[in-house]
Amino acid sequence: MHPETLAIYQSRMADANAGAVVPPISLSTTFEREADGSFPHGHIYSRSSNPNRDLLETALAQLEGGFAGLAFSSGQAATMTLLLALRPGDHVILGDDAYHGTPALLEELFHPWGLTYTRVDFTDLEAIRSSIHENTSLIWIETPSNPLLKIADIQAIADLAHNAGAWCACDNTWATPILQRPLDLGCDVVMHSTTKYIGGHSDVLSGALIFREDGDFYQRVRRYQTLGGAVAAPFDCWMLLRGTKTLTTRVKAQSATAMQLAQFLHEHPAVEAVHYPGLESHPGHAIAQKQMTRFGAMLSVQIKGGSDAAMAVAGRVQLFTRATSLGGIESLIEHRASVEGPNTTTPQNLLRISVGLEHADDLITDLEQALNALT
Ligand SMILES: *Cc1c(COP(=O)(O)O)cnc(C)c1O
Repeated sequence: MHPETLAIYQSRMADANAGAVVPPISLSTTFEREADGSFPHGHIYSRSSNPNRDLLETALAQLEGGFAGLAFSSGQAATMTLLLALRPGDHVILGDDAYHGTPALLEELFHPWGLTYTRVDFTDLEAIRSSIHENTSLIWIETPSNPLLKIADIQAIADLAHNAGAWCACDNTWATPILQRPLDLGCDVVMHSTTKYIGGHSDVLSGALIFREDGDFYQRVRRYQTLGGAVAAPFDCWMLLRGTKTLTTRVKAQSATAMQLAQFLHEHPAVEAVHYPGLESHPGHAIAQKQMTRFGAMLSVQIKGGSDAAMAVAGRVQLFTRATSLGGIESLIEHRASVEGPNTTTPQNLLRISVGLEHADDLITDLEQALNALT
């Protein structure tokens, strides 16, 4: 089945009480035992499992082509729970421009706990290979990267990880399973901030992990999800399941508009550089074409004239909301270096754009007036 069909078909639920077409929200934290002590519906207590979470976890697993999904209260909670399944003394390799919260977790939470990590340029396979140590247990891919949209070769990196006896994870938040399926390319686990495209409307904070197969790694993370308890609430799961039904259509439309914006920005004299893997001039274009079905709805742009010029453009746009985050139906623009703080390596003249569902022509007209005001 195609993802559009799958997302709608598999999330139907037989509702014996009322025949509801849309799954009811199951707020009960506890579930009744039979007289013989068994749990005929499979649920005991909502931290372990819940009907709405089950539906969402199954939907996400199907969309990513995985064995099972696990839903969390945020993307960071998903990453944290995955890292807890490593052992003190293990070593992690991740990209030099991974989402800033991932290295922050490694540095502030897991470094004291006993993990070490190395950050390298993930477009450089040799750099990854030479960072692998005997104790490397996880290679963490994020592609397209944040905020420079660098493209990492998922299949090649998964091979490197497996040859070294390490797990390979991919943060697939920006691409979504509609554009890229890392499990098919050899990764063991996919992570999502479902806050972004899967929720799709900037109104649910949540995260997920999807595993390719059953085994010790999956079972440990599943156990820590229940033990740690950073699970997604029933209402959030319900909202996210709703999001999966329009995911394909949203992401296709948003990607098409992003391509038009990238082409417009690429030609504009006030622009120093556009980072969008759909442009033929992008250094990762060929790999993106190999592993993605479309190039996504995120792009970043460097404005001539430094930080002040970039801030002026962000200050003049009318249709884009100046806010962090991404993946919603409204277009957002942000001066990324300000969000990342004083230690950022993000260029000061960079604006990150999350393209929404507005008409491309209106968004281009808006960017045009903001850029033209610079000259
Ligand atoms: C937002 C984001 C995260 C963190 O997810 P939260 O839901 O904010 O905890 C991780 N990775 C990427 C790529 C993100 O965009």
